[in-house]
Amino acid sequence: MKRRHFLKNASLTGVGLAVGSAVTSCKENTPEKIVAVTNTTPETKAILPIVIATWNVPNATAKAAKVLQEGGHILDALEQGCMVEEADVKNQSVGKGGRPDRDGNVTLDACIMNKDGDCGAVVYMQNITHAISVARKVMEETPHVMLAGKGAEDYAVSTGMKRDNLLTEASKKEWQEWLKEAKYKPIINIENHDTIGMLAMDKNGDLSGACTTSGLAYKMGGRVGDSPIIGSGLFIDNEIGGCVATGMGEEVVKTVGSFLVVELMRQGKSPQEACKEAIMRIINKPNSNYKNFQVGYIAMNKKGETGSFSIHQWFSMTKFQDDKNENLQSGFVVKAQSN
Ligand code: ASP
Repeated sequence: MKRRHFLKNASLTGVGLAVGSAVTSCKENTPEKIVAVTNTTPETKAILPIVIATWNVPNATAKAAKVLQEGGHILDALEQGCMVEEADVKNQSVGKGGRPDRDGNVTLDACIMNKDGDCGAVVYMQNITHAISVARKVMEETPHVMLAGKGAEDYAVSTGMKRDNLLTEASKKEWQEWLKEAKYKPIINIENHDTIGMLAMDKNGDLSGACTTSGLAYKMGGRVGDSPIIGSGLFIDNEIGGCVATGMGEEVVKTVGSFLVVELMRQGKSPQEACKEAIMRIINKPNSNYKNFQVGYIAMNKKGETGSFSIHQWFSMTKFQDDKNENLQSGFVVKAQSN
């Protein structure tokens, strides 16, 4: 059943409720019988599954797509896709090998959200490589949506995960170099693979998403960005679509970026148009100093259409569909200066 038809029925019957595609009338005053509207009918003719991720991370999207192609669960796909980058010590923006804060501590943020709107997150977590796995466990195995710091770390250990030193020699050396001047100046498009944000649509047309990061390099101790915050770094509404963000987290939080993109898609904008408008909100704020920082969004709607947009040139999205990985440059506002 199309959502529009359902809404029409709902307004005619007073309280009309749908489970999957079935419509059920409920008496008022029986709220325990009231269930959320979840239209799981795929509206898409796209070839499924689809996996998209921020930046150029073909190994991560290929891993997630493989899990889906083999009939695996979408959350396994997202988790294992993100884990590829978390374990890669050469990726200095995520997991083990991530750049530390200004005190030399590597602190991780991550979140995950499923088609039913359930979510889990960890913030400011140290000594555990796979933050995305802990976020998933928070969602599936605790009564909470977010655990922070030592609590998150201890919880991870209690589930059997091992503590590890996340500060690699390479990241330590760079940090010690940085300390000589200790000038805090986030670098736009650092290394071409910042935070890993991933969205997937499985063969049923259902969407979920995940996001994992070590946050901004040389941030203040205790700082948490957008990436683990549902609505800012990631948002999924399985009736409409999903969005995930990367870049200067403070600016994403101030505009509740990923939620905004999904709501703009609800109003009829394509994923690309919605990402663009969310970027323009940041740029058009009074006193915005957008020339000095990057923000990028990627989004997918219920039809399997995708799009991405960023403030500065050279943000890209990796897309795996139909057995093929592509790295697609996003739309942008500020052209990169040639060297
Ligand atoms: N969004 C992340 C944060 O603010 C960093 C990034 O994506 O570069 O922590």
